[in-house]
Amino acid sequence: MKKIQMVDLKGQYEFIKPEVDTALQKVLETTSFINGPAVREFQTDLENYLGVKHAIPCANGTDALQIALMGLKLKPGDEIITADFTFAATVEVICLLNLTPVLVDVDPKTFNIEIGEIEKAITPKTKAIIPIHLFGQSAPMDEIMELAHKHQLYVIEDNAQGIGATYTHKDGTKAKTGTIGHVGATSFFPSKNLGAYGDGGAIFTNDDDLAHFIRGIVNHGMYTRYYHDVVGVNSRLDSMQAAVLKIKLQYLDYYNERRKEASINYTRLLSGHPNIITPYRNSDCNSHVFHQYTLRILNCDRDALVKFLNENEIPCGVYYPVPLHAQKAYTHDGYDEVNFSVTNQLVQEVISLPMHSELTLCQVEYITNKIKEFLG
Ligand SMILES: *Cc1c(COP(=O)(O)O)cnc(C)c1O
Repeated sequence: MKKIQMVDLKGQYEFIKPEVDTALQKVLETTSFINGPAVREFQTDLENYLGVKHAIPCANGTDALQIALMGLKLKPGDEIITADFTFAATVEVICLLNLTPVLVDVDPKTFNIEIGEIEKAITPKTKAIIPIHLFGQSAPMDEIMELAHKHQLYVIEDNAQGIGATYTHKDGTKAKTGTIGHVGATSFFPSKNLGAYGDGGAIFTNDDDLAHFIRGIVNHGMYTRYYHDVVGVNSRLDSMQAAVLKIKLQYLDYYNERRKEASINYTRLLSGHPNIITPYRNSDCNSHVFHQYTLRILNCDRDALVKFLNENEIPCGVYYPVPLHAQKAYTHDGYDEVNFSVTNQLVQEVISLPMHSELTLCQVEYITNKIKEFLG
C-alpha cells in the first residue's frame, strides 16, 4: 500500500504532469509573469464554471476576504457576524479593517453557522454576515439570504473550502457556492479542492459596479494608470499559478467526485460505531465536496486517537483545536462561554481523516480498521 498522505499533491501532479509542464513552459517562454494571458484565460474559465458574472483573481484566500469586505465600503465599528468554528483568516481580516467581529455558535450536525444564532446577534450596527462553507458543505444559504434581506445586510461567502459545491435553493434551482451572496471569496492554497502550486485566491460577484470597484482595489486603487482613487492593495494571482489552475479547473468535478467516493467508503466502514459520528449531509439542499472528512469522536480521548493513528503512519488533522472566541488574538471580554457550547464541544471531538482525490479503497480500509482497533 502506498504511504498515506493527508493530501497527495505529488500523486495528483503525476496524473496531469505533461499538461502542467507544457503550460508552465509556455509562461516561462512568454515571460509575462504578471497579468499574462494565463490569468485572463483562467478568470474566464472560472466565471463559466461557476456561472458567475465576475471572478477577480487575487494573491490568496485571506486577501480575497479582505478585499471583498473593502469592496462593500464598511466603516470602522460596523459589526460582522461570522462563525466561531472556522479558520482564523475569516475573523483576522475583519479585525484588520477595524470592523467588529461578532462570533456565533455553529450547528452540531453540519458544523456550519447556526441561523438562529445569527438572528440573535443582529444589532443596529450589524452590516454583514460571513458564512463559511466549512469542510466543503454549503451553509444554509436560503435562510441566510432571507435574514440578510430582512435586515439589509451584506452576505460574503467564505468559499475557501467549498469550491465546486452546488447548493439547491428551496425552489429547486441550483447555484455554485460562492456565487449566492453579494460577494464570495475563495482560496487556491495547494491543499484546497482547487489548489495552485503556491498561493492564490479569487473574489466572485454578479454585481457589475462592485466588480469594477474591486478590480481597482486589488491594483492599488487604480482605475486609470497612476491615478489612485481609493486606498487599495497589491494582490495578484501570478501567471504561473493561473496556468496550473486553468488545467486543474478542468479536473475539479472529477477531484470532488473522487473525494465523495472516499467519503462514502469512510462512512460505510465507520457508521454505527457507538463512539463515532460520521459527517452529516443535508441531501435536500447541498452537495458536499469534502474538503475535509471530519468525524466526531465521543466518550474517548480524541488526542490519544490522533497519536495512535500517527504511530500507524496515518496522518490526520484537528480542524480546529481552539474556538476563535478563545484565541489569544481575538478574545475580548464580551464573549460569554454559554453562547459557544457547540464549538466548545466540537474542538474536543473532531478529527479530520486523510482526504484527497488519490485516496484508494485499500487505504480507507486500513485507516478505518485502525480507528476501530483503537476504539475497540
Ligand atoms: C484556507 C482558508 C482561508 C484562507 O486562504 P489562504 O489562501 O490560505 O489565505 C480562509 N478561510 C477558510 C475557511 C480557509 O479554509
